[in-house]
Amino acid sequence: MTWEEFEAKFPLILRWIKITRSEHEADASTVASLGFQRLPGYYDPETLESAKVVYVDKAPMPPLSAIGLAQFADFEQMHPGGITYLDTFFVRGRLRDDEAIHFHELVHVIQWRALGPKRFLAAYADGLERMGYDRNPLEVMAYTLESVFRHSERSFNVATIVREQLKRLYPDFEKESSLA
Ligand SMILES: [Zn+2]
Repeated sequence: MTWEEFEAKFPLILRWIKITRSEHEADASTVASLGFQRLPGYYDPETLESAKVVYVDKAPMPPLSAIGLAQFADFEQMHPGGITYLDTFFVRGRLRDDEAIHFHELVHVIQWRALGPKRFLAAYADGLERMGYDRNPLEVMAYTLESVFRHSERSFNVATIVREQLKRLYPDFEKESSLA
């Protein structure tokens, strides 16, 4: 996908995301309100107070084929345990007690915030298109940190690590504020 193609589709995707988020606003809870014991060791209070979760039977996936992005049909057909749009993430109801999936989606909340919506979606789509879901750098980052969270009790500041890794992956992202 060229940058021009992305620029043409970006407003449609962002609009779908904002509509989807507002449709579920009444069912959204802040992560802080859930009472998970370990997350405060990894995320600052502001993040836990502002990030929201909605429990669903099936995570809403953007209608990418319908807006002309048929190359992402496989992604659109996925049934992920969770997915994050801006500051809100959707998790399958049966995973509501799984603290690690909340940890994983919060990595994406940090990525969305650090990169800004346009740069996040461009980077995510590029990773998906060129490398596939499993090797998409933004997913590799989230799954790797999630694995550390699952296997060790030692806390760390996720936002600091994510920002460092994003700087390495996308050296110019902090300068390109016009894209945010
Ligand atoms: Zn993920």
